[in-house]
Amino acid sequence: MLLGCIADDLTGASDLALMLTRAGMRTVQVMDVPDAATNLDGFDAVVVALKTRTCPVAEAIDLSVRSADALLARGARQILFKYCSTFDSTDTGNIGPVADALMAHLKTDFTIVCPAFPANKRTIYNGHLFVGDQLLSDSPMKDHPLTPMRDANLVTVLQRQTPHKVGLVAFATVAKGADTIAEAFRMARTRGERYAIVDAITDLNLYDIGRATADMKLITGGSGIALGLPGNFVRAGVMTAAPVPQTMAAPKGRAAILAGSCSEATRGQVAAAIKAGVPTFKIDPLALVGGQISVAGIVDCAQRSPADKPVLIYSSADPASVRASQAELGRDRAGHFVEQAMAEIAKALVAKGFTRLIVAGGETSGAVVQGLGVASLEIGPEIDPGVPWTRAVGRDLVLALKSGNFGAADFFTKACAKLS
Ligand code: ADP
Repeated sequence: MLLGCIADDLTGASDLALMLTRAGMRTVQVMDVPDAATNLDGFDAVVVALKTRTCPVAEAIDLSVRSADALLARGARQILFKYCSTFDSTDTGNIGPVADALMAHLKTDFTIVCPAFPANKRTIYNGHLFVGDQLLSDSPMKDHPLTPMRDANLVTVLQRQTPHKVGLVAFATVAKGADTIAEAFRMARTRGERYAIVDAITDLNLYDIGRATADMKLITGGSGIALGLPGNFVRAGVMTAAPVPQTMAAPKGRAAILAGSCSEATRGQVAAAIKAGVPTFKIDPLALVGGQISVAGIVDCAQRSPADKPVLIYSSADPASVRASQAELGRDRAGHFVEQAMAEIAKALVAKGFTRLIVAGGETSGAVVQGLGVASLEIGPEIDPGVPWTRAVGRDLVLALKSGNFGAADFFTKACAKLS
């Protein structure tokens, strides 16, 4: 293993693993801190998928440091701490405290901070994070239920999360290429800065930034930062680039789509699938709790739907409906009921011969993967930016785990068509 990665959530981990795979690294994603029994042989990069974005700070630090130790023990030469391209965090963490702890643990005093992901319209200019043409603080992220982002200046956002000095390597420097960027990192370090927020607007910037980090023990960023890292190992002569998977031979069996995300993108994808004639079953959390619908009933209907089509089971709802079920059940309970139902449905469908699952929603994916007892994933072809097909190692099961906001309107049908 050359690159050891620690991702703060599951779909973010798949996004990163895809980026590394597309850049020629043989990559595996594991769902837990690896132990001696975890088979990591033959992989250039390992991505540990944690669930530490919003958990208590101490727990996030403990899991991240233990992951770093496990990755280093298995040969990692560099550690990448991956967070969301919208820098999802609060003033108490977890990005700053986890990065501080990893830096101390790896005995290094400098790293970069770069969540840019131009393919998904996340760019950084003068330290300010943009989502499309909006500042992060004007984007829908300002109203995120757990990590509302109301300041787009990453220097000040991160400075509130760490006692260490945060600086900026601005676009004028980044545009001059890898050598100038590397020199800017050296200068920042002599000024006593421990973190450099690094501007990036295009993939080319990310390749240059990646090249300038070849000697860093710790790198932090969104999945975009992975673009330039594999090339460092190839240039160092320790890796040859593997071919990028274009299709995935999936086990015979039916496909199901489980959508628990209520994001605008997923609701659009659900609407498109319904319009395309995919058989659908809607989960209303209140009907589920009231007993009007049941997991067994949904699974039964899914099984009896036409076998030549995927089946879509969704709880995705507009903000007013979500508010209504949350008012009745409480926000966490409503979420938990739906997640548990999705996990049980996934288990039952797999037991009945479904072998291809598409899951929409980060938390929903976490619940489904945990319910299915999937321990590690191999990365297949890209469906849309940030979302690959994956194969559960050692199982007749392929999964596409989609962060709620990702993917084009035709994502579900496109995903099914990608499998051979
Ligand atoms: P995203 O990636 O869009 O954030 P997640 O799966 O992470 O999607 O989060 C969506 C949350 O909303 C989950 O906890 C899910 O169970 C919950 N949820 C889904 N449908 C509903 C609904 N109709 N009412 C209330 N909560 C819901």
